[in-house]
Amino acid sequence: MPDALLLRRAELLDGRTIDLRIRAGLVAEIGILAPGAGEHVIEAGGGLLLPGLHDHHAHVAATAAAMDSVRCGPPEVADAAALAAVLGRAGAGWLRGVGYHESVTGGLIDRRWLDRVAPQRPVRVQHRSGRLWIFNSAGLEVLLAAGGPVPAGLDRRRGQLFDDDGWVRRTLGSTPPAFTAVGASYARYGVTGITDMNPGNDDDAARHFAHARASGALPQSVVLAGMLALGRDGLAPGLALGPVKLHLHEAYLPDFGAVVALIGAAHGRGRAVAVHCVTVTELVFTLAALREAGVRPGDRIEHASVTPDEQLREIFDLGLAVVVQPNFVAERGDAYLADIPSGDWPYLYRLRGFSVAGVAMAGGTDTPFGAADPWAAMAAAVSRRTAHGQILGAAEALTSEQALALFLADPADLGVTRQIAAGKAADLCLLDRPWRVARDNLSARLVRACWIGGRLVYDRVDESPA
Ligand SMILES: [Zn+2]
Repeated sequence: MPDALLLRRAELLDGRTIDLRIRAGLVAEIGILAPGAGEHVIEAGGGLLLPGLHDHHAHVAATAAAMDSVRCGPPEVADAAALAAVLGRAGAGWLRGVGYHESVTGGLIDRRWLDRVAPQRPVRVQHRSGRLWIFNSAGLEVLLAAGGPVPAGLDRRRGQLFDDDGWVRRTLGSTPPAFTAVGASYARYGVTGITDMNPGNDDDAARHFAHARASGALPQSVVLAGMLALGRDGLAPGLALGPVKLHLHEAYLPDFGAVVALIGAAHGRGRAVAVHCVTVTELVFTLAALREAGVRPGDRIEHASVTPDEQLREIFDLGLAVVVQPNFVAERGDAYLADIPSGDWPYLYRLRGFSVAGVAMAGGTDTPFGAADPWAAMAAAVSRRTAHGQILGAAEALTSEQALALFLADPADLGVTRQIAAGKAADLCLLDRPWRVARDNLSARLVRACWIGGRLVYDRVDESPA
């Protein structure tokens, strides 16, 4: 049986132990199966076989770029001297820093600060939130020399640009980075699908994704969220059109009527909306706008970082889904406990509260603003433990089963958990042990192999044909 693969004695999440045959990119058969002549056989040894994980909130291009950038924030860079050292290093051309946070320097850095530590080459540093770039004078000069309209979000004196990633990209005419390394790193986690949530995704971005898919650089299936204008004439094969992304910022909320109109326009084109809400104000504004515009299936709240009970109830009443990042509990929890009044702690990155209320919930890592490892996110959802070992919101912990389900949600309907079934694409993640053992030790180290469309994209242990 050429081109077929038999996986023997794998465990499914329902507890059954089965054999599974992959043929022509699909799950061909499930049951008690005998190997065909010459068929490649992998002994799963009772390891858990899952539908491939889906990262429901990622920024692939920024992740690829971050792999080519210097880290400017914790844990690698913890203070101003360390930041000055990484930015002051010699070299030619742009130096791109990522992951910066004001806690490193005790207040936000600006153009002058960068000029002191890195006067020579053009430097740009991205804030950890992804919403702010800070340039040195040499960098600002390069950008302004290109002419063209200067964006409203640019404060020239401070060298700070809020919420206009696209201007930098367009002005520098930079080709987006290759996605090969991102695809390979996702494969190691058993991730077979990604929803890209970059609000600036347009048809150019879609072409880049389509090329990365077609060339095999990015093996994962892609749901592309982004601008209203994205995909008006359809998208390339291998890409699915996702929601229109709305990026709010509490400091300068857009006109309420304009947001209601944008939601209406998205719905009018058959698209849902995904609204970034990291503060209570942003959430209250968003819920009011959705109530006004009306809700359609697929409308979702990204992050829901702070959700008091009243808003949680409203999310349920409106039938919205939430896309959560439990990894931030581990990655940023210590800073939250230091910076945020204790009265708000119970409402931070809630999980169980959504689950108990019956709100559809899915998990996304927000890479590169969070670590791209969904297993670390699951572990944090269960433990609610910060990097320094404190517990943030114990009442919001999930069971291991619920945590896993965050990444098994169907991107086309977050209320549905994907299942392995004959006739479906062979997007699979095999663990090296059964669930009863894995559930107490959620870690990417358990991933033994990953297939996308029947193609082996990650293999921790080389198997030889039987
Ligand atoms: Zn994001």
